[in-house]
Amino acid sequence: MKPGDRVAVDPNIPCGHCAACRKGLTNLCTSLKAYGVTANGGFAEFSLVAVGHLHDIGDLGFATAALAEPLACVLNGLGAAGIEPGARVPGTALVFGAGPIGLLLALSLKARGVVSVAVADISEPRLAFAEALGLEPLVSGSQALAARAKGFDFVADATGVAGVVEGMVGFTADGGTALVFGVCAPDARISVAPFEIFRRQIRLAGSHSLNRNIPQALDILKRDDGTMARLVSHRLPLAELLPFFAKSGGDPATMKVQFSADM
Ligand SMILES: [Zn+2]
Repeated sequence: MKPGDRVAVDPNIPCGHCAACRKGLTNLCTSLKAYGVTANGGFAEFSLVAVGHLHDIGDLGFATAALAEPLACVLNGLGAAGIEPGARVPGTALVFGAGPIGLLLALSLKARGVVSVAVADISEPRLAFAEALGLEPLVSGSQALAARAKGFDFVADATGVAGVVEGMVGFTADGGTALVFGVCAPDARISVAPFEIFRRQIRLAGSHSLNRNIPQALDILKRDDGTMARLVSHRLPLAELLPFFAKSGGDPATMKVQFSADM
């Protein structure tokens, strides 16, 4: 690395010697630290980042390259669910939640070769956007969605709503996988029939953060035809950061919002 290089940062700082780290599960480090959380990150005037956390983005635009971290989290989730290069690709998938992360997850499934990827949400504008990205829109709670019970080889939650997570098994096909990807409240609980998990051989998977997936994410972004970059709905100068957060309140058209010092 040299001054002037264009890079993305892997934010996770694992200790390297706890049990999780020794197993290679650096995202589950018992004393995990992170740039932007426990050390200065992208909103600071200056950040000191260890060189091993820097990844060359080549000629990728900054707006697209900034998707590397959320995409890396998605890739960690897909890996936890057994959807990895070389593994059998699910035929059908359903993602709950048409926010930026849910859509990034859905687009990543398409990039992995899943032919039919549906997205469920309560927001019609968000579903219209999902459809424009080539995903099948389904209204949460609708008859159309209910008719697809046990219809998906892979189901993921990107809402963080416990009730939605509870319903995932019902949409998972026999032998399929359900992934808890959204962040539910720590004290939330769900009720699931263990007999159904057993009899229909359902796999339940969880995932947290990213585990050295940034290079893989950058590879995908470099191959992307611009669809993933459409998830960036706003690019604003730094001066608008506080005003934006002060007024921001549930506009469904707001997806990924980026602030830049060079505007
Ligand atoms: Zn550790």
